[in-house]
Amino acid sequence: MHKENQPLIFELTKEERTGYSLPELDVPEVDLSELFPEELIRQEAAELPEVAELDIMRHYTALSKRNHGVDSGFYPLGSCTMKYNPKINENVARFAGFANIHPLQEESTVQGAMELMYDLQEHLKEITGMDEVTLQPAAGAHGEWTGLMMIRAFHEANGDMNRTKVIVPDSAHGTNPASATVAGFETVTVKSNEHGLVDLEDLKRVVDENTAALMLTNPNTLGLFEEQILEMAAIIHEVGGKLYYDGANLNAVMSKARPGDMGFDVVHLNLHKTFTGPHGGGGPGSGPVGVQKDLIPYLPKPVLVKKGERFTFEYDRPESIGRVKPFYGNFGINVRAYTYIRTMGPDGLKAVTEYAVLNANYMMRKLAPHFDLPYDRHCKHEFVLSGRRQKKLGVRTLDMAKRLLDFGYHPPTIYFPLNVEEGMMIEPTETESKETLDAFIDAMIQIAKEAEDNPEVVQNAPHTTVISRLDETQAARKPVLRYYKPE
Ligand SMILES: *Cc1c(COP(=O)(O)O)cnc(C)c1O
Repeated sequence: MHKENQPLIFELTKEERTGYSLPELDVPEVDLSELFPEELIRQEAAELPEVAELDIMRHYTALSKRNHGVDSGFYPLGSCTMKYNPKINENVARFAGFANIHPLQEESTVQGAMELMYDLQEHLKEITGMDEVTLQPAAGAHGEWTGLMMIRAFHEANGDMNRTKVIVPDSAHGTNPASATVAGFETVTVKSNEHGLVDLEDLKRVVDENTAALMLTNPNTLGLFEEQILEMAAIIHEVGGKLYYDGANLNAVMSKARPGDMGFDVVHLNLHKTFTGPHGGGGPGSGPVGVQKDLIPYLPKPVLVKKGERFTFEYDRPESIGRVKPFYGNFGINVRAYTYIRTMGPDGLKAVTEYAVLNANYMMRKLAPHFDLPYDRHCKHEFVLSGRRQKKLGVRTLDMAKRLLDFGYHPPTIYFPLNVEEGMMIEPTETESKETLDAFIDAMIQIAKEAEDNPEVVQNAPHTTVISRLDETQAARKPVLRYYKPE
């Protein structure tokens, strides 16, 4: 019925066919007109699909096969840390005591879940070198906003009302300036130097008594470690500003270096990246935020605390920025991250970092002869190539990304960071084998050769997918999310 590489048939209805069987009604039937006003009661049955269970199963299974995920293939999407999501995480998240509890249950009945969250906070404090952690934020961007709101509350509590500016590097992830804007700040850009690092002279030029914070990721979005981080921290702290750590790249330094020791005052982590939460399709994430002592009073409330042997939520926090998420964050993702940390242990997390960096450097060196490498230094967990050379042959980075689909790969992040022309940001992660890395390297080298010998095959790619190129802007801005039955 469903053929690979054929458009899916969506109209499967055959009258009277059903995919369910409900038990006999065993409670008294109610008269709807006693419960609802007349005009709200449906007069005719809803027009629902009439499809057998097996057909619906095949329909969704066929749809799922048209998706690319970490479980189906290599996914070197730079900055996103698309590593393997260990299945033991899923088993633990499904424990009845975690999966079947309700967020409004009495604290006394969910002490185990609260202990897990408390323990996770303790582990994250140790990993980041921060004094306190909240698990409330639902994603990295949400963590950025939460952290900036705390920084704002801190400055305001000090009567420092003119700290209106947040500094972000020109290589920053788009969420950094966006979060700063939403938190009510003005963003100021600091330039990168010829080594791909923050230009200290430019930083000195843009800081002043109106600086609220500098947002940085380290290693930065080029995968390069900001070696002058201690000098940068001193420059920011000297003018009374705070240093914010975008933890999306923690996979490059975890268990080796801690943002707290580099001078950062606030940190967010992306548990769905570094700590193996599944994160396809914009599903639930988790962006815990850690702070140094002087920011603790501003943490979102309630704050999870331990009193003797009991765990409880503390609401009496007058200086708190308030609640940023219903209940206490995305608990299921936090269970997965906790399971990951406990199964890896400190030595395991250190090995993760070492292999992530080794894999990225191996791939970078193998690909460097075939593409442009704008910053030729050891990288951390990811690296950025430029497609400048291929562009001169009429083949754009977008074309090469599309061509990778024909080889069964998810393309790298492209045209980011913005300070690299025709950028391709590749993050292999530590969970891939050498065979997988080599196969991807071979595909990239073949595409570079095709750009020289047979550019049309790249320019017209992909050739093997169900549909070829989409209007990606329209697909994002005007998605057709509703099915209309053909007349
Ligand atoms: C992913 C990412 C973010 C945003 O995190 P989300 O969890 O997607 O909101 C911020 N900064 C960098 C560098 C990232 O890679």
